[in-house]
Amino acid sequence: MRIAVAGLQHETNTFLPSVTTLADFERGSIYGPLRRGPEVLSFLETGNPVPMTGFLQACQSYRWTALPALWCFGEPGALVAADAFHRLAEDIISRFEAMRPFDAIYLDLHGALVVEGQDDGEGALLARLRDHFGEGMPIAASLDLHGNVTEQMVAAASFLVAYRTYPHIDMRETGARAAAGLRLLTEKGPMEKFHRKLPFLVPIHRQTTLTSPMRELYGMLAHTESREGALESLSFLPGFPLSDIAECGPSILAYGYDTDVVLSAGMAMVDAISAQESAFLVDLPDADEAVRRAIAWSGQRPALIADVQDNAGGGGTSDTMWLVRALLAQDAQDVAVGMVFDAEAAKAAASAGVGATITVALGGKLFSGDRPVESEFEVKAVSTGPFRLSGPMAGGAMADLGTMAVLRHGGVEIIVVSDRTQCHDLEFFRRVGIEPAQRAILVVKSTNHYRAAFQPIAGTIIEAGCPGACVMDPTTVPYNALRPGVRLGRGKTS
Ligand SMILES: [Zn+2]
Repeated sequence: MRIAVAGLQHETNTFLPSVTTLADFERGSIYGPLRRGPEVLSFLETGNPVPMTGFLQACQSYRWTALPALWCFGEPGALVAADAFHRLAEDIISRFEAMRPFDAIYLDLHGALVVEGQDDGEGALLARLRDHFGEGMPIAASLDLHGNVTEQMVAAASFLVAYRTYPHIDMRETGARAAAGLRLLTEKGPMEKFHRKLPFLVPIHRQTTLTSPMRELYGMLAHTESREGALESLSFLPGFPLSDIAECGPSILAYGYDTDVVLSAGMAMVDAISAQESAFLVDLPDADEAVRRAIAWSGQRPALIADVQDNAGGGGTSDTMWLVRALLAQDAQDVAVGMVFDAEAAKAAASAGVGATITVALGGKLFSGDRPVESEFEVKAVSTGPFRLSGPMAGGAMADLGTMAVLRHGGVEIIVVSDRTQCHDLEFFRRVGIEPAQRAILVVKSTNHYRAAFQPIAGTIIEAGCPGACVMDPTTVPYNALRPGVRLGRGKTS
């Protein structure tokens, strides 16, 4: 078998200003830059934990030939520029065209890609591939757990399968599941499909699969899938609530060869998730209260404050200063903050050198309503260049945040970086000489992905609700395009 493969991942927060450009996709993320043609096969050597790696490994074990077109992963952010999407889609289709003949197509997608003037990026790409390569072509795609699945995606793809962990530690496995789905499609023909969207939104910080109720819901999903012989795949995607499109929100997908079994498994998940609706919306403490709780913590291991709404992985600017201000105001001690995106401050620290004292206006520049912290800081550390991550989620991937520095004021040390990314790996601290397990208080700008590496070293976790672009509470999001009647919580609907 010859399989045409490509990857195009972006999680689009449509409420951010600006656009995501082709250059953003070219530069990529911690999973590396855009790769074209045979460069995609390098995932087999590097072990990068993305779905494409799992798919390519499965190709080897099935003795299939993978024909790679391109792969890219843009850091989550604003609307994708129309020309960027058009050029990437054209590149995939023309490269696929040149590879003919082949037996099937695999795509490594996210599911929440929104383009200027086009709400359903993945649906549009899948529909074009379907049109171009015909009804009989098996097309499988893997999706992020934050995908907002659309009718167009389900209709155009033969098989869709999503991550089932958040933090996403099963990306590779999901690529392998897509390969298993393709194998069935080529051996036994098309499957029955089930797709249902739920009429409410799930705040992102309540989507973690490490706590209730998601832990139990995904347990049920795995149990149902393994119990039913005629059910080949069951997925639940809580979705990405910051994509303002009609079909935003949670979806359930089921595939198999028995209509009744597929329907009843899908509906059982719909009922179980719906029963938890009221458990999904919870209030979060503000910065002052979160810091008070962290200082009051007297356990052996660190108190960890998660700045859940300033998560670069959900489009956050990663430079808001509410928690830093509260930490300084309350004279918190033995604190490490990861990470504030401020290339100018990092550059100033690097040119002054370790041991110097500098005066900078740190962070607070990118999010409306915030302001920098203007103060003297001691430069505690400076580093530059790529380094390898080690955590359960991105272990093996190389990170390069440009010039990094540690700025200290009082008992607060702040890691300052020149490129924006979510703090979900201990190496972001270790790179600049901080052992996070040995601090009294840690701050991470992350919604949930931090849990994979930091939950084992933290004594307590405090989710702070200070303002940020990655808004948790759907009742405060100014939706325009959401379909009518979607429940946002607190009795509000779209
Ligand atoms: Zn995700």
